[in-house]
Amino acid sequence: MAQFLPLMRDMAMDEFGAFEELRQHVKRVRQHTLDNLDYYLARFELEATNNGNQVHFASDGAELNSIVLDICQQHNARRVAKGKSMVTEETGLNHYLERGGLDVVETDLGEYIVQQAGETPSHIVGPALHKSRESIRDLFLEKHALGERELNEPADIVAEARRVLRETFLTADVGIIGANALVADTGYSMLVTNEGNGDLCANLPSVLIVCTTLDRLLPRGEDASAMQRLLVRSATGQPQTCYTSFYSGPRREDDSDGPLETHIVLLDNERTDILASDYREVLQCIRCGACMNHCPIFAAVGGHSYGSVYPGPVGSVLTPLLSSLEQAEALPNACTSCGRCAEVCPADIPLPDLLRDLRHDLSEQKVTPRRWRFGMRLHAFVAARPGLYRALTNLGFGLLARLGRKKGSFQHLPLAGGWTSARDFPAPQGKTFMAQYQARQAIDE
Ligand code: SF4
Repeated sequence: MAQFLPLMRDMAMDEFGAFEELRQHVKRVRQHTLDNLDYYLARFELEATNNGNQVHFASDGAELNSIVLDICQQHNARRVAKGKSMVTEETGLNHYLERGGLDVVETDLGEYIVQQAGETPSHIVGPALHKSRESIRDLFLEKHALGERELNEPADIVAEARRVLRETFLTADVGIIGANALVADTGYSMLVTNEGNGDLCANLPSVLIVCTTLDRLLPRGEDASAMQRLLVRSATGQPQTCYTSFYSGPRREDDSDGPLETHIVLLDNERTDILASDYREVLQCIRCGACMNHCPIFAAVGGHSYGSVYPGPVGSVLTPLLSSLEQAEALPNACTSCGRCAEVCPADIPLPDLLRDLRHDLSEQKVTPRRWRFGMRLHAFVAARPGLYRALTNLGFGLLARLGRKKGSFQHLPLAGGWTSARDFPAPQGKTFMAQYQARQAIDE
């Protein structure tokens, strides 16, 4: 599935035909909202409160977790039905609530699978994209005490998940969901899903808690709708998700269903610092996952290799900003600067530029090891002198080609121990790029 997502996105955008116009519009709206975040936050709080919601602000993950646990305890809750929420992955909410004695069940199918497997999501849109159908079948056979059965078809696996999760929806005391957008002028939160589990979490339990971050704000309903048109096509190539819901607040007198009490918890967790920094553009992200789907590094190593909640190009920018450069030193360097992520990003975030700036910060703040910094300075010196660069690359190329002629590769090479510890280094063959380029130019003339 993962390998088809770029194709599906490209087909959807071709059919749509207005990607660039809508992208620039959404970018302007996102930038305007971030520029006026204090105003839109106050407006959202006012409208949401007028709708009957209780709005909470959490400065960090620990505060969000504590607010949510308090609400659950006030209602003597025992079971929580959760929709997909990367924010609660960021704060480690599930474990916190479980330590508080609650039974927390993920209800998005992908999230449910990784929860049952004791794993973390590998992708922000498809949490279980790394798992095969067979491994999910074996997992369900092991975890669900439902007797003799075969789960060979995807439809059987989905039907079993639906059967097991129905019990959760019907018995949960509290529902927790995320939000794709917060609409300031109405106080509504918007959620898009393909499974409808978000709506069941939001409407069946008597208490609903929406956990999201400050940067999800948009001024108006039509802005959320414009963003949704880009988000869905970028994420899965669909023109529409199956469910797009706007939640206003608790059940009104004439409503036939809905929660009796609703809370919205807005997490900052470094976002206002990012907003004040040179990296503020990363907050324009609409969490579509397209940069991951199109990244050659992500495709080669998978989401778990990033070791963070947000993988791929956007995660490589966001994670060092949410934690620290020291803790996430490797991430900005795990990029080939191919630029594909920036081409497809519907929020037009210059991801390769931000990654390069982070590398610069790593070097300036001396987080990068001294020998790397020396190597980069040496490279910059040589690269700024084309004659010297060509002479040295010709020399090195010739030397390596001659030494490696017999075996075709090197198992050990000075200054390349990081590479050769895991794989052989191929000996150069043919001519250097510059030699080929000059030869081709000579033919063209
Ligand atoms: S950075 Fe862009 S492409 Fe990546 S998840 Fe965010 S909006 Fe999507």
